[in-house]
Order: sequence, then structure tokens, then C-alpha cells
Amino acid sequence: MKSVERVIVAGCGPVGAVMALALIRKGIPVTIVEADAEPKMDQRAATVHPPTVEMLAELDLLDDAFETGLQSPIFHFRDRTTGELVAVFDVQVLEGEVAYPFVLQWEQYKLVRAVMKRLESHPLADMRFSTRLVDLGQSADKVEATVVNPAGETELLQARYIIGTDGGRSTVRRLADIEFEGFTWPERFIKIGTQFDFIGAGTGYCTRNYFSDPDEWLNLFKVKGEDEEGVWRGIFPVPADEPDEAALSAEGVQRRLQGLFPKAGDYDIAYHALYAVHQRVAKTFNKGRVLLAGDSAHVNNPIGGMGMNGGIHDAMNLADKLADVWFGRAEPDVFDRYTRQRRKAQVDFVQAQTILNKKSLEERDPALRREHLDRLRKTSEDLALHRKFLFRSSLFDSLREANEVL
Ligand SMILES: Cc1cc2nc3c(=O)[nH]c(=O)nc-3n(C[C@H](O)[C@H](O)[C@H](O)COP(=O)(O)OP(=O)(O)OC[C@H]3O[C@@H](n4cnc5c(N)ncnc54)[C@H](O)[C@@H]3O)c2cc1C
Repeated sequence: MKSVERVIVAGCGPVGAVMALALIRKGIPVTIVEADAEPKMDQRAATVHPPTVEMLAELDLLDDAFETGLQSPIFHFRDRTTGELVAVFDVQVLEGEVAYPFVLQWEQYKLVRAVMKRLESHPLADMRFSTRLVDLGQSADKVEATVVNPAGETELLQARYIIGTDGGRSTVRRLADIEFEGFTWPERFIKIGTQFDFIGAGTGYCTRNYFSDPDEWLNLFKVKGEDEEGVWRGIFPVPADEPDEAALSAEGVQRRLQGLFPKAGDYDIAYHALYAVHQRVAKTFNKGRVLLAGDSAHVNNPIGGMGMNGGIHDAMNLADKLADVWFGRAEPDVFDRYTRQRRKAQVDFVQAQTILNKKSLEERDPALRREHLDRLRKTSEDLALHRKFLFRSSLFDSLREANEVL
């Protein structure tokens, strides 16, 4: 595909994959440029909130999603210091009001694979793996992207637009000289996967659990993994003064799981990884013919599972606007509206909420901690408050409010 009449999607994580599929379904040719040789088995995101499930339905991805994902309507808040179950939330209370009243636990690499299946032989899709974007320029009518191809040669690709879906360290964002405002937390987060069956062990947990603890909060969720056994994924904080090697050592990993639920013998470990955690939003999501979506535009801590979801919401919003411009139904200034809408969702909601989620789980002041847990309990016990909480935490509110921005 040599024509300039295409869009380059740089980066094929979950947001790039959704972006490419959404554009192609609207009839826009796409060149996907991905540095890795194949979609990697990235074990970061799995929580897919109900409005995002609606978007997957729009893209005809639900067959795969339901086959390899876990429907998970209930979540628990627990006080880890006492073992008390503080609050139970159930997305099924929204039955009849929303199309999919559950959270889908679907690992992000499965989403990418499902999209790849649909794009592999599509005439509008030009997929280039082992191809890294290294330089970028733009003029009034096109962008020029320099990539290093699988043979190690430099190639120049031209397109009408380029969308940076190349993650938190985005090359597109850097080359377009767009500021990434925010901060990095001093601690890191470790994710540990195990096939140990916490429900079978009689813990009383459900498949989505948040534990409040001033010393060591955690999240514990179940995903389907690669077989019917499933995998439990715990996310724990790692203090700034704990060396990486200690956190990632067999002893360090066992200590964290045994601290949660002591048992005879070691836990089997499916995978584990350490992550730096940031709260940052790009100053703009559009600059001329350069557009940003997903982690290249915003990053946040993963408590509440909002990063990938927000990125998919960006991609669906941008696909509509790009199609309008492409087919002459709108002027390019509609991309300013894209920034206004999706930046609002990020700044007013995702950043604020994820920072609050972290603060709530780690609160050290006993009175504030008690107050927070009491409020959660009361919210869960009152149907009107329960519904309101779910509309907010499931990202329905952020999506609606952002879409209302002119
Ligand atoms: C522990 C953890 C748990 C999380 N859980 C959740 C969750 O449950 N729900 C949720 O919504 N979010 C979650 N997140 C956040 C989520 O993982 C990210 O928001 C999501 O991966 C962003 O997707 P993306 O496609 O924008 O970027 P990425 O997934 O980072 O993909 C970027 C892609 O671009 C490619 N790339 C990079 N540079 C170049 C280049 N120069 N040229 C070509 N290709 C390039 C990379 O190889 C990569 O494939 C979690 C994060 C962490 C750390």
C-alpha cells in the first residue's frame, strides 16, 4: 500500500488494535506499525468495564471476548487489617439500564489477538510487525513517518494522519513535541499471577477484590488465563526503598502471597512483573496531523482498571471524528474537540479517581480510614447510592460527560 491515502497507527497494543479495526470498519485504509515481532503476552490490563464491552460489541469482538474472558459482575472491598468484608457491589443492579451488566475480565493480549485475526487478511489493513517508528514530520497535507523495517532498513511512509498508540513512552508524542504533564509515584507496583484457587480455599473472596491496608493494600482479580483453571492476579505496592531484585525474588513474591493467605507450601507463580506508576496527561491529543490515543496520551495507576478502558474510549471517539473528516463530513478542527472531550475524561475523572482509589486503599489515618470504609458500606447498602457508584466507577459517567463537551 504505497498511497498517502491512509492513516498510520503507530503501536499495536490494545488501543492501537482497536483504533485500526474501528477505522478499517469505516472504510479507511490503515498501516499498523509495531516494534515487536508479534503481539506480546502483556499481562497488564484485564478489567473491561461495561461501556467498553459495548464498544467491543460494536466491533464484533464479543464472540472471542466471551469465550476467553470471565464475566465478573461482583466486587468486594475488604479491610485487610481485620479481614472484614466491608462492601459488596454488584453491576447486575444495572440490569435493564445497561447492555452488559458485568465487568469482563479479558487480558489485553487476548483483545489484541482477536483484532489481529480480523485484520490479517483485510484488504484495507497493512500490518507491519518488527517495524519501529523512529522519526516523524508533517506538512499541510500529509505526515511522513520514518520506520526501521524487519530487515533493519530505514523506510519512509506517508499518510494523511498518524495516530500515536505507542504507549506511555510514546515516540510519536516525543517527536511531535507534546508535553506529558504529571508525576510519577515513588513506589512501584508488583503484579503476581498464581493458579492457586482462592475461592476453592474458602476465603470468601469473589473474582474482583480490593483490600484496604495502610501497610500493604492490594487488588486480587481472577482471569481465565490459558486454561479453565484460571489465574489470580494480585497487585501490591512495592515501597520506594525496596530494591527491584528483592521484590522480584522468589522469596519476595512468596512473602507477599503468604502474607495475604498463609498456606502450606509455596504458591505456584504463573508470572510476575514490576511497574513504575505514573499519573500524566498530554497537553494536547492533537497537533496538526498527529493524534494521540491511549497510554501515549495519558497514564494512571491501575487501581480501578481505567487506563486501557479510557484508551479504547479515545480510539472509538477518534475513529468517528477521523471518518467524518476523511469523508468530508467535518473540518479538521473537530480534532480539537477530540482533545477537549477525552482530556476532560482523563483529567476530571480517570486521574482524579485513580489517585483517590490509591489514597483510599492506603489511608494511614485511622479516623479517615474508618470514615472511608463506613462510606463504602453505606453506599453499597443503599440501592440509589450503589447505582450511582457503579455508573461512576464503570466509566459510564466519564464517557457521557466527555461526549457532551462541545
Ligand atoms: C499492573 C497493571 C495493571 C493494569 N490493569 C488494567 C486494567 O485492568 N484495566 C485497564 O483499563 N487498564 C489497566 N492497566 C493499564 C493498561 O495496561 C494500559 O492502559 C494499556 O496497556 C494501554 O494500551 P496502549 O495500547 O495505549 O499502550 P501499550 O499497551 O503500551 O501498547 C503500545 C504498543 O506500541 C508499541 N510501540 C512502542 N513504541 C513504538 C515505536 N516507536 N514504533 C512502533 N511501535 C511501538 C509497543 O511495542 C506496544 O505494543 C494496567 C496497567 C498496569 C501496569
